[in-house]
Amino acid sequence: MRAVMATLSTAVICVLTVCCIHTGMVIGFSSVDETRSLLEQYNAHEGSHSSFPKIKGPKSKHDKIAIIGAGPAGIHMAYKLKAAGYTNVTIFEMKSFIGGKSVTRYHRRVPHEMGTVYAQPDYTEIYRLVKEFDAGRILPMPSPTVWINKEHPTPLSNLQSNLQILASLRPDITNVTVAAVYIQQAIGKYVGLHSQMFGSYEGELMPRPSSVVLSQLNMTFLEFLKFHDIEVLKGLIVSAMTAQGYGHIDEISALYGMMWVTPRFLTAVATPPSPEVKSVVKILSKGFQFLWSEIARQFNLNVKLSSPVRQVMRLKHSDGFYVKYWKCGRLHGAMFDFIITSPTMKFMSNVINFDPKAQELFSRTFNYYYTTTLADTDYGANRGLSPQDYFTFNINSKEESSVWVHRDSYSSLKYITDANYTSGMYPDGPDGLYTQSSVYYQFSKERPSRQTLTRKLKDHILNVEKATNLKIKDRMIWNYFPRYSVSDMAMGILWDIFDIQGEHGIWYIGSSVSFESVKSVVDYNNLLLRQFVCNN
Ligand SMILES: Cc1cc2nc3c(=O)[nH]c(=O)nc-3n(C[C@H](O)[C@H](O)[C@H](O)COP(=O)(O)OP(=O)(O)OC[C@H]3O[C@@H](n4cnc5c(N)ncnc54)[C@H](O)[C@@H]3O)c2cc1C
Repeated sequence: MRAVMATLSTAVICVLTVCCIHTGMVIGFSSVDETRSLLEQYNAHEGSHSSFPKIKGPKSKHDKIAIIGAGPAGIHMAYKLKAAGYTNVTIFEMKSFIGGKSVTRYHRRVPHEMGTVYAQPDYTEIYRLVKEFDAGRILPMPSPTVWINKEHPTPLSNLQSNLQILASLRPDITNVTVAAVYIQQAIGKYVGLHSQMFGSYEGELMPRPSSVVLSQLNMTFLEFLKFHDIEVLKGLIVSAMTAQGYGHIDEISALYGMMWVTPRFLTAVATPPSPEVKSVVKILSKGFQFLWSEIARQFNLNVKLSSPVRQVMRLKHSDGFYVKYWKCGRLHGAMFDFIITSPTMKFMSNVINFDPKAQELFSRTFNYYYTTTLADTDYGANRGLSPQDYFTFNINSKEESSVWVHRDSYSSLKYITDANYTSGMYPDGPDGLYTQSSVYYQFSKERPSRQTLTRKLKDHILNVEKATNLKIKDRMIWNYFPRYSVSDMAMGILWDIFDIQGEHGIWYIGSSVSFESVKSVVDYNNLLLRQFVCNN
């Protein structure tokens, strides 16, 4: 079976490569040419129109502005405001470090990402920041090994696993050329639908779609794929979305799906690697936390660490706010003219006296949990084809706290793949030791207990990876991706939130009003700043 899949996949890589290079080849509704031209139109028009409303913001460049949270959204916003000439911006951060969900732990002199880790072609603002602040190198991330069978764990490449999905949906397609064309057609169709529904736009959040389009998207992402007969894209989307903790495709709103899986991203992940572009997914040589810390340091941002904001009160006789924050064991207070808040809005409802409309919108958010554990083990007998594994049998089973993803950090940074990785011929750190140091991802809908997480991780390491000597070095249980239901999304809740930006002297930023990625939150900041009418 493995040999057949390998032959089939090699043939499909060749066909897909030929399809991509040989641009004259027409493949039905959407030839590669057609997909390309749709994508080019999408790219060419990006930014050419906007139907977002204009919003209010700080009244003067000398207004006292408080930003709550020194995560990616807060740091990026402070940097943008300072760059635009705002002179009085203070960031309050409850933790003792900058970065929010971008946390990089050093272990054996190797950076291990416990939060933000990947970037992809849509991350233009992030790539620009990495260069501007000289925050390390942007490196290719080896594509994952996919494990689809728990009883007989067999490593498959991403492509092989996609072919298996195609085989289960269309057993009649046995010819590899036809299989490749079929997948390519589905991609072309997705690009076309995206373009028809949303047109072209700048950043991640599209302008409010028409009510007809919203009603057509009142469904899960899987229902959308089935409705348009492009379910074959399921494998690509589970890797690009579900494995990242962004929701099971039979649960998450089709709108979130289309915000994240843009035509550019989908086309890029489906393009076979080349010697020039080993992988379209990237990682940072020094980690993401370094980027945010460097922006704060080099731009001399005023960040108050270990300073949780406890209460934000509106002043009765003027437009301002009184911010109460904790510092060094006692409560402090300061006046501000404008508030920008980034943590999950639902939690901030206990801190800020939001107006009733905002309060009602934010109360509808819910989140799940993604846990990352940094651990050492011996090299297991069952090593994948690359230093990153997606255990789709666990993802699909929806078993609480099962291991979804494994990433071996050092080998990822060094791009050790295929036989070089599987054979375990290289040490896993600059110290020369053959001890594997990895980050494991466990997903759950209910807040997991540490005992359950450890039990399931031990079981996984022993029975799937066939490794021993588990030593847990660190663990983080994250409140992950504050999100809205399918129907709330189809009612246009993200645009309703945008419409109240600035109305009561507050901007709402961060993942709970956009999407759970650093690209999403910086794109949202840029959108706010574009729509802000500054009267001074
Ligand atoms: C395991 C994991 C993997 C991820 N992988 C990726 C990835 O590969 N690519 C990607 O782009 N993104 C990834 N993300 C998502 C990305 O990290 C987040 O979307 C991003 O950090 C959101 O930024 P934010 O500023 O909105 O929120 P946060 O990063 O959550 O920052 C909010 C900040 O507010 C602070 N805060 C909260 N309450 C208060 C208070 N009362 N007073 C003061 N401060 C307060 C918090 O301490 C925190 O620092 C990942 C996240 C996790 C957890």
